Amino acid sequence: MTLQAGRNYREEASKGLDNGCLQKILKKLQNNFGKGAIEYWASMTDSGLRDRAKNTRMETLANLDVVLSTLAENVEKAGGHVYFAKTAEDAVNYCLRVAAKNDVETVVKSKSMTSAEIGLDAALKSSDIEVLETDLGEYIIQLAEDQASHMIAPSIHLNRSQIGRLFEEKLGAAYTDDPAELTRIARKMLRHKMLDADMGITGCNIACAETGRISLVSNEGNIRMVTTMPRVHVALMGLERAAATMDDHQGLLQLLTQGAALQKLSTYVSFAGGKRLAGDPDGPEEFHLVVIDNGRSKILGDNAFREVLACIRCGACLNICPVYGRIGGHAYLSPYSGPVGAVVSPLLFGINQYADLCKGESLCGACLDICPVKIDLPRMFWNCDISWPMVIGNRRRENMTGGKLWCSSCGALV
Ligand code: SF4
Repeated sequence: MTLQAGRNYREEASKGLDNGCLQKILKKLQNNFGKGAIEYWASMTDSGLRDRAKNTRMETLANLDVVLSTLAENVEKAGGHVYFAKTAEDAVNYCLRVAAKNDVETVVKSKSMTSAEIGLDAALKSSDIEVLETDLGEYIIQLAEDQASHMIAPSIHLNRSQIGRLFEEKLGAAYTDDPAELTRIARKMLRHKMLDADMGITGCNIACAETGRISLVSNEGNIRMVTTMPRVHVALMGLERAAATMDDHQGLLQLLTQGAALQKLSTYVSFAGGKRLAGDPDGPEEFHLVVIDNGRSKILGDNAFREVLACIRCGACLNICPVYGRIGGHAYLSPYSGPVGAVVSPLLFGINQYADLCKGESLCGACLDICPVKIDLPRMFWNCDISWPMVIGNRRRENMTGGKLWCSSCGALV
């Protein structure tokens, strides 16, 4: 992935700071979800769950070769195909081969940051394949020819009147800013496409090696349709998104939905893997799991940064970060924004291109406090020489201890 010509973090961050509408939206997001998650962690009855989940993630990463080979074995036992892609190009080419073999003309997708990472949509479109996003936020972004600005809420930077105008312009719908009506308009447009599509492409929240099933969470029901209606289902996963056992999977799922949206469980949890069996009412004739490296094994071999691969992409650190809360997700110029994006993007896409992301972090430590699996992102910023110029005295570092994790300079989220 390369930065779009002429765009850089500093300029994009400045645009975010000048955008009053964005500031208002992000403040609301952080006040509800960020503070809500912190309060929930403090009141959890099972206070050891986050530590156990962190240990589980780190153990899985230490044995990733075994876990992934068990996963592949069990997916194949269920009639699925597993492909290990070394690079983004490799993954894209595999998807294109599967599409060509199955005469695919239309693809419906559910939200997948990995798909954005490898640039899959553009490749499908240049092969004359129609691609439609079915997650409401992603659909809005696609219509607006925009980019996601949050891991869980991709169109969070747009307010409902902007979305109403967009639907009016792109779909010919009568203007409304009523969220329920806007959802109905999108649902009507998407439903037939989901029924008629040849291929469904999804991400993967957690892949369970023991069962050979991937789990996918949503609140919209679109994933159920994307994984069951088309003839072919292709699931994309970063190689770190695996759990060894169902027990491990269970704890992570609970933390994921809580961290992402303050939900005990999301409205839908889908388990997919393997092909439709005789007697099944629905399901794909072919299932492909694409396990993507694209720089992750290099991170795995790095003692200082391996921990970032424990991330379950819940987005909670975005909901508390005073920097993200001011500049928004577009400034990061990556599918991975916020504090975790500031660590992952330079590691995956090149330190020279993405160095400024680390420099922008405040080192307040709020991301560590909120992370369901307690990933020590501040340590990684701290380890990273390039973040030092942004440290103002030692006050912020001191605030990372004693449970007082708020940014002392900007006072955000106090
Ligand atoms: S670093 Fe932690 S809080 Fe941030 S997205 Fe990953 S798991 Fe969630």
